[in-house]
Amino acid sequence: KSLFKNVTKLPNDALFAIKARLDVDTRPNKVGLGIGAYRDNNGKPWILPSVRKAEKIIQSDPEYNHEYSNISGLDALRKHAARILFGDSFDCAKRVVNVQSLSGTGALHVSAKLLQSLGLNNRDVYFSDPTWNNHYQIFGKCDFKASKTYPYWNPANKQLDLQGFLTTIASAEEGSLFVLHPCAHNPTGLDPTEEQWTQILNAIKQKNHLVLFDSAYQGFATGSLSKDAYSIRLAINDILKDYPVLVCQSFAKNVGMYGERVGCVHLVLPESGYTKEDQDALQSQLNAVIRSECSTTPAYGAKIVATILSNDDLYKQWSEDMITMSSRIIEMRHKLVAKLKELNTPGNWDHIATQVGMFSYTGLTVEQVERMEKEHAVYLAPSGRASIAGLNDGNVEHVAKAIDEVVR
Ligand code: PMP
Repeated sequence: KSLFKNVTKLPNDALFAIKARLDVDTRPNKVGLGIGAYRDNNGKPWILPSVRKAEKIIQSDPEYNHEYSNISGLDALRKHAARILFGDSFDCAKRVVNVQSLSGTGALHVSAKLLQSLGLNNRDVYFSDPTWNNHYQIFGKCDFKASKTYPYWNPANKQLDLQGFLTTIASAEEGSLFVLHPCAHNPTGLDPTEEQWTQILNAIKQKNHLVLFDSAYQGFATGSLSKDAYSIRLAINDILKDYPVLVCQSFAKNVGMYGERVGCVHLVLPESGYTKEDQDALQSQLNAVIRSECSTTPAYGAKIVATILSNDDLYKQWSEDMITMSSRIIEMRHKLVAKLKELNTPGNWDHIATQVGMFSYTGLTVEQVERMEKEHAVYLAPSGRASIAGLNDGNVEHVAKAIDEVVR
């Protein structure tokens, strides 16, 4: 009878709690810079024109239905999803085993479960300091030896702590799992340079570590899919071409389909040494994780993304849509910094303009963030992370004035 009595109450998820407070705030000038979701210049969610067109195509198909998908997911999605990550010339048939997943979170969970079911969770897992907090929860549930961090953000100069990062790679136990953000790092908006990626991946190779790229923002850093896949391609084509690499892929942000949960997990195999039998066995293991987790993954969003990726006109439209989103965010970064300069706000805010992707690690303290919310109805994460996509021409001045007031 009392099985479920006295269960520990867990804290609310910090980001979703911010959203809940924002939703009930009745102040007309409220601004949501918490959850990382793109907004247009009127502060509204944006359905990408490429998505609207794809939906029309799908629904006008006489074969349109809501049948179950396959266990491994929609074939066209898996094929084209791999192509945009790894490039047109990459031999996916030989080197990639993949399944569709419940967006990026599901991809991470399937990866962790795969490693667990193969007995490969007997190693430490390393996350950037700081990272997306859910990484800890996802891997924590799959019994890895320990969750550890590698230095990433140096608050003193707001730059990458490359030396700390490399030292930790070198001192980690051989064969540890390193979770890397390939572009548009969440929460800092700070990515390694091409030269730094070479150093990072070489150091990882030296210690035989396993890399997992968590690709949740391809197209959001630069507007270009191939530029944003630089680190992944450097690994699989060059520095780590003799090693397996995991890649988790989300279409939440770059297709703007947050709630539809479209993603994939790809296991990229070494250039040589793996047979067709190995591939089949790995595919069956990935399928088994999906089968127990959700049986089959959602079909509707997958059809939309697969249609966009496989139709030349829609692909072109989508490329423009990504530029629309990424360039509006860049413009807002510059506008916010310009307003802060106009106000003579104490401190240097240039990092807001130089950081990339959806977020800025503003450097605001917990107390300042609290005051932003209480006094100015501007909501951001306690870490000082602001989702720049929440800024627009109508609220950027209000946000600048709020920052100015709380830092003085
Ligand atoms: N990884 C990172 C680094 C993220 O920021 C996110 C989204 N916040 C995800 C994965 C997963 O997102 P989703 O499950 O919505 O695709």
